[in-house]
Amino acid sequence: MTVLNDRKKTAMQMQPAQFEAIAKQLATLKDRSPFYAKKFDGIDLTDVKTQADFEKLPFTDKADLREAYPLGLAAVPQEEVVRIHSSSGTTGTPVIIPYTKKDVDDWAIQFARCYEYAGVTPADRVQITPGYGLWTAGIGFQAGCELLGAMAVPMGPGNTEKQLQFMVDMESTVLTATASYALLLAEEIERRGIQDKIKLRKLITGSERAGEKIRKRITDALGVEYYDIYGLTEVYGPGIGINCQHTHAMHVWSDFVYLEIIDPQTGEVLPDGEWGEIVLTTLQKEGAPLIRFRTHDLSRIVPGECACGHNEHPRLDTLTGRSDDMMKIHGVNVFPAHVEEILQEFPELSSEYQIRISHLDGRDTMRIYIEAPGTLDWAKTATAVAARMKSKIGFTPLVKIVETGFLPRSEKKTKRVYDERD
Ligand code: ZN
Repeated sequence: MTVLNDRKKTAMQMQPAQFEAIAKQLATLKDRSPFYAKKFDGIDLTDVKTQADFEKLPFTDKADLREAYPLGLAAVPQEEVVRIHSSSGTTGTPVIIPYTKKDVDDWAIQFARCYEYAGVTPADRVQITPGYGLWTAGIGFQAGCELLGAMAVPMGPGNTEKQLQFMVDMESTVLTATASYALLLAEEIERRGIQDKIKLRKLITGSERAGEKIRKRITDALGVEYYDIYGLTEVYGPGIGINCQHTHAMHVWSDFVYLEIIDPQTGEVLPDGEWGEIVLTTLQKEGAPLIRFRTHDLSRIVPGECACGHNEHPRLDTLTGRSDDMMKIHGVNVFPAHVEEILQEFPELSSEYQIRISHLDGRDTMRIYIEAPGTLDWAKTATAVAARMKSKIGFTPLVKIVETGFLPRSEKKTKRVYDERD
């Protein structure tokens, strides 16, 4: 197909089937969606004839979706909407995403594929700890599990006592959880010394970025394979991609989603391999189609081929964070991932840390609290970490070591960065 020929070889190539799906969608989008009729006012969508044309379309941002509250995103008559989900707005107005029957079914198909890629089979028992309700997590994990034919153990979040009882008695083989909650459960299993009663063989985590150190801590404690699922409420929910058994990078389902990586500052589309912000376009969604939705998640497309052979589904590297997680301190952009990378060089430290940024005596100060066992020379370790930060990031933080277990654990997502500046 000639539409693809105007691209640099190194950049992400839109697959012909993807271009067709997008063109088909654009042909009627403004008639179906009052939201996009307004957003793309003055743009003739039939002019989009190449990938380059598509890349000139304006982005859709979360703030746009919020303005459409409550049901302004719907691109189908109300009687075709079978369910809504909502993303938790930390800044007030939530975003409501309407789903048609096909959307709900398509989401389950994608989720079942995630389980397959992780090697889950109908013989497995899947303990689901993410939340149910307006949030997309729990019900997505369950629908995919049932479609695959595995047994769902729909616990929902919290109640660690009951989680462990069911994990033992139901002989759960797959745990689905945020990385934070998996860590909490792993530590509790160790503390009780019940590892031999646990039958888990796989862990599927989502909705929270976890560094190498946290993963290792969890996999060592539970003896599981670690899988990372990708997704967000605005685009179905978790389940639009997962890593396979050959790589830590997550295959994203190219028949449902078109993936771009952009420079978050300029909006320019970046070639494969370069780090930037993930932008997603839905290819089949009916209830609330999205064109070039800015996720604010930071990653890159991993170039080259995957050993599993599924190269039709491009791979996203482990997320380095969200563009809104960026801390600007002494003129340097710092992400939690940078700090984690440095902590990884110190195997004697625990995976848990907390960053506090404050403004004291006219200057910004970063304090890092890190957990370590009491047997370690805390002062010496703190000095070494601070020196490493200085050489890698460019400024010296105040490093304080605290006893392992001192920092808070969470059943949801652990907050590790506190910006106390006004
Ligand atoms: Zn693969």
